[in-house]
Amino acid sequence: MKFRQRVAQFFYGRYGIDGLYYGLLVSILVLWILRVIFMDSAAASILIYILETFLLVWMLYRCMSRNIAARQHENQIFSSFFKKIKNFFILQKNKIRDFQSYRYKKCPHCKATLRLPKRKGTHPVICPRCGRRFDVTTRI
Ligand SMILES: [Zn+2]
Repeated sequence: MKFRQRVAQFFYGRYGIDGLYYGLLVSILVLWILRVIFMDSAAASILIYILETFLLVWMLYRCMSRNIAARQHENQIFSSFFKKIKNFFILQKNKIRDFQSYRYKKCPHCKATLRLPKRKGTHPVICPRCGRRFDVTTRI
């Protein structure tokens, strides 16, 4: 029981695991695979190993840190960055799924992505977000 109490006391107040932790873990696994692929090149292998070690140390440091506000801020930056990447892939998936009947176009004024019914030629469009009018040209 004494050992368990000591472990619990050690982890009390530590930051723990979050989205960035898993992001770093996946990055380390990807780097590990790259290191196996580039095993023939010593320079690339050493470089990847150093990066891998840095990410591992950073991951463990974040997990054990008591500065929770700073770790949450880092995670917030990572989450907004990851969300952009995730949304990009979701948009690509939707473009493929809707290719038969819709086209995705960006509003030049507010940069909102609009899903428009597929119609060949140039057509006027009113953006539902900003309400401004612009022309859209669909070739295929
Ligand atoms: Zn707009």
